[in-house]
Amino acid sequence: MSYSHHIENHYIHRAGWLRASVLGANDGIISVTSLVMGMAASGANTHTLLIACIAGLISGATSMAAGEYVSVQSQKDIEHADLKFEARELEKNPHLELDELTMIYIHRGLTPELAREVAIQLTEKDALQAHARDEIGIVDHTAARPIQAALSSALAFSLGALCPMLAILCSSPAHTERVVLVASVVSLVILGALSSYFAGTSLWKGSLRITIWGILAMAFSSWIGSFFNVAGV
Ligand SMILES: [Zn+2]
Repeated sequence: MSYSHHIENHYIHRAGWLRASVLGANDGIISVTSLVMGMAASGANTHTLLIACIAGLISGATSMAAGEYVSVQSQKDIEHADLKFEARELEKNPHLELDELTMIYIHRGLTPELAREVAIQLTEKDALQAHARDEIGIVDHTAARPIQAALSSALAFSLGALCPMLAILCSSPAHTERVVLVASVVSLVILGALSSYFAGTSLWKGSLRITIWGILAMAFSSWIGSFFNVAGV
């Protein structure tokens, strides 16, 4: 018997790096813009704003990388522990494990005979892989990659933080606040559209979601910053 080979490229395979990158870029734009807006509202000059921007970029990218690494690594540790446990069980109780696999396929809708046959054949092929996938839910594309997640979120944060920095560099001192604000709203809209494009969802919904939350965050820190207005002192 031969079957035609048909490959579909699904969006879920991108979930790992896409999540880390969108989170990083979103954080980079919002937190550094908020920092700059807050300081601008307190009367800081362009030079100070640029320094704040650079400090924000470096500290943010570092903390994003560390945070992603630790969180994904702990996910990976859990997966490893589960696989080790499963491998031990397979060695100790192969019959119970076969029954367990059979039950899983019965619950998914196969007849008991067919479920048994599938369980036997998959166990012969690669018992641990079958249990990892069908019992625990660990498949290759969800297998955690801490270094990749750390690097992509740090890079994305830096790219996001470059938006307010470029806006400061390109604007005249009198208009810095407005230019930074417009630049970050535009970059949030673009980020939202890009992430929806890669996630395969509605461009409008994605853009709107990221932009509205970003504007709220920036408005809040600008408002806080205005309490510390030192320009007139
Ligand atoms: Zn099992």
